Amino acid sequence: MTATDEWRAEAIAHSTGASLLQTFLNDLHNRFQPLRDGKVADYIPELAKADPNWFAICIVTTDGRIFEVGDADQLFTIQSISKVFVHGLALEEHGRDFLLTKVGVEPTGDAFNAIILDEVSKRPYNPMVNAGAIATTSLIKGSCPTERLNRMLDMFRRYIGHDIFVDIATFMSERTTGLRNKAMAYLMQHFGMIDSRVDEALDLYFQQCSLMVNCRDLAVMAATLANHGINPLTGDRAISECYIRDILSVMYTCGMYNYAGEWAYRVGIPAKSGVSGGIIAVVPNQIGIAVFSPPLDKRGNSVRGVAVCEALSQHFGLHLLDSSMGCQKFLDMLN
Ligand code: GLU
Repeated sequence: MTATDEWRAEAIAHSTGASLLQTFLNDLHNRFQPLRDGKVADYIPELAKADPNWFAICIVTTDGRIFEVGDADQLFTIQSISKVFVHGLALEEHGRDFLLTKVGVEPTGDAFNAIILDEVSKRPYNPMVNAGAIATTSLIKGSCPTERLNRMLDMFRRYIGHDIFVDIATFMSERTTGLRNKAMAYLMQHFGMIDSRVDEALDLYFQQCSLMVNCRDLAVMAATLANHGINPLTGDRAISECYIRDILSVMYTCGMYNYAGEWAYRVGIPAKSGVSGGIIAVVPNQIGIAVFSPPLDKRGNSVRGVAVCEALSQHFGLHLLDSSMGCQKFLDMLN
């Protein structure tokens, strides 16, 4: 075999693996599009406007390849998925030890919006439930609300690779209906977990939930986490590598609402979902996965999103604790 033949054989294997993956994603999309279970979230009026038929799947590899099917350009608000990245920003700004004095890393089994703090420490349980996320957001540094918002937008820009904007209608909708979040924030102020700028912290939290993304953006963000904090499309570092472990651990144990335990058992990769119907999942060193489909199950996770991630995990042996398969198989297939 000449060098050119070898190169050609490798290119064909590469494209075969890639087209197999694309075909698999197309099949998943066809298989799960007819699912009619679940309900679009309506507790924030703006969310109720989502079309239940929207459905996109996107995978971005750590070497920068993008595979997608469906409504990958459809914009929606990031909601709770933002909590992962703001947790990362707070870790960078304050360090692990300080952050742990303000927010725990314990799964709760309670609803994401439960008004509950750890009885002894008075900390919110973890940064993925609303109380913990508001406490985390309240720590973002800056001399005024605009500076804090800009720091946050800069951080998201590094993960996504382009500018990102707050949807004002959703922000206002969150702000006027988020009474439980307000109650929680004031309770945390009472216990000294957040400082006196409670309303500013709430506004920043509502703004982060109202950032507009599409499914591809989410997959790039997940791939950045999979790629040790470097955005695989731009080559920019979004977060220091030393905090990836913290972020993924909390996603793994607390990222999927009250389904987190069963998700870890069945799917076995760190993930986070949000009430607008997005899910991100991270296979370290390999890929970022994102699925978007607004109808949610009773626990608040996208019905099609969970089905797709379970199928992907099973088919490619992505479960991190599955020693027989090993997720290296995934990139091997593409290479
Ligand atoms: N903005 C939402 C809230 O605080 C986030 C909910 C979510 O996606 O879990 O109610």
